[in-house]
Amino acid sequence: MERVKTRIKTDDKVKILAGKDKGKVGKVLKVLRKKNRAVVENVNIAKVHQRPTQGNPKGGIVEKPMPVDYSNLMIMCTRCIKPVRVGMRELENGKRVRFCKKCNEQIDA
Ligand SMILES: [Zn+2]
Repeated sequence: MERVKTRIKTDDKVKILAGKDKGKVGKVLKVLRKKNRAVVENVNIAKVHQRPTQGNPKGGIVEKPMPVDYSNLMIMCTRCIKPVRVGMRELENGKRVRFCKKCNEQIDA
């Protein structure tokens, strides 16, 4: 699979642009680089049948967020309070950080 370049990272706040959860905002729990997908908190929830485990001896159905394609996600800018395009820039100390292309706010700490 061809890898899509993305700026999305774990703990980012993203907006869902398509699908049944369109418009929702959630936190990125996991980025699956090889699949060009990310798992977002409370988004794309599927009911998964689970086998009994020690913690849950009965097993049963659990709700689990399923990965969403990068193309359906956009990073939220905390200053613009909306999804924005993100660029990269290098700080004086050589560290590369992401920034909002709209308001120029730095996204990474
Ligand atoms: Zn912004």
